[in-house]
Amino acid sequence: MTAGPDRYNNQSAETRVVHTGWEPDALTGSISPPVHFSSTFQRDLDGGYDAGFSYARENNPTRAMLEAAIAELESAEHALCFSSGMAAITAVVQAMSAGDHAVVSDDAYHGTTTMLRDVFPRWNFEFTQADLTNPDAVRKAVRPNTRLIWIETPTNPRVKVADIAALAQIGRDAGAVVAVDNTWATPLLQSPLDLGADIAMHATTKYLGGHSDLLGGALAFRENNELAARIAQVQKLCGAVAAPFDCWLTLRGIRTLAVRMPKHCENAQAVAEFLESHAGVERIHYPGLASHPQHELAQRQMKAFGGMLSFEVPGGRERAFEVANRLRLIKRATSLGGVESLIEHRASIEGPHTPTPEGLLRMSVGIESAADLIADLDGSFGETLG
Ligand code: PLP
Repeated sequence: MTAGPDRYNNQSAETRVVHTGWEPDALTGSISPPVHFSSTFQRDLDGGYDAGFSYARENNPTRAMLEAAIAELESAEHALCFSSGMAAITAVVQAMSAGDHAVVSDDAYHGTTTMLRDVFPRWNFEFTQADLTNPDAVRKAVRPNTRLIWIETPTNPRVKVADIAALAQIGRDAGAVVAVDNTWATPLLQSPLDLGADIAMHATTKYLGGHSDLLGGALAFRENNELAARIAQVQKLCGAVAAPFDCWLTLRGIRTLAVRMPKHCENAQAVAEFLESHAGVERIHYPGLASHPQHELAQRQMKAFGGMLSFEVPGGRERAFEVANRLRLIKRATSLGGVESLIEHRASIEGPHTPTPEGLLRMSVGIESAADLIADLDGSFGETLG
């Protein structure tokens, strides 16, 4: 199988997602790829492994297919797949040294900041949070020992948009690795590596899988360089690798990404416009709205505005719960990126350190009918306000 960035460069995204990382199985001709569950592989008579597989923690054929697919989608030289999004993020930090420092979004996925706050100080790895929508604030947060700039755009949960190219330049000037959590945008809407980032990261749990039935993470590297080798060593030796069946499910999810994403985006735009005009909503955060502070940047940087939005209701936690609890179609659950719409009161899952407003609800807009989603929300507000 030929992997690498050039193979599909001239083809459209729709074609790439269907064919990436895949050829009919060489042994059987099967069109659906096999799942290789074997943890170990037979040695050749000379003790080697001509097929390239020895032990599933080191490498696995199903994982290799997914890694090739994600590398192609991100125009990366190399990709690695992990057991969860958090395992992928952790591997990047594990490849840093004690005494290093990171600059991280002030509105990043709470798992990322909680991990940096509660786990890595024991390794003397420090971090500073900054508003990544303001490059000057990022420049000020950079220290002589800054070795990582961790960008999330759009951010979770306030859907802020950061200028990847500008921040990548700051990272380069500082000699820091620039990584972008590209989970919310997906490789179809945003290409961090083309904008100068070193790593594009995904919680494949979300849109790439697309059906809320797996856990996985991925790192795609612009260059297959010393950094990629260091992180590959962490993957292999620390062992948080993606399981074969999760890899297979992710590959299957990727096949329909190009039909799912436009529908997520179209529905999110319709829901955001509805919420923006609704008397029961105080603030709406969606980069597809002209009122969003980084709407122009999002237009420039993204092919479409994504399926994630959040909104704030007056009356804090109590009112937010009331609105969410009255929904019938839209389910109350954490996570995102599945075909079904989900809503969540973020402050209550993010814990006591959260800066997220108590009245904020985050919505992962699914691929149902937009009219049905709007009717569900309208009904919920109506009952609440009435
Ligand atoms: N990054 C983002 C933007 C997320 O939303 C999440 C999970 O919600 C993660 C990373 C972590 O992914 P996982 O739950 O697969 O560890």
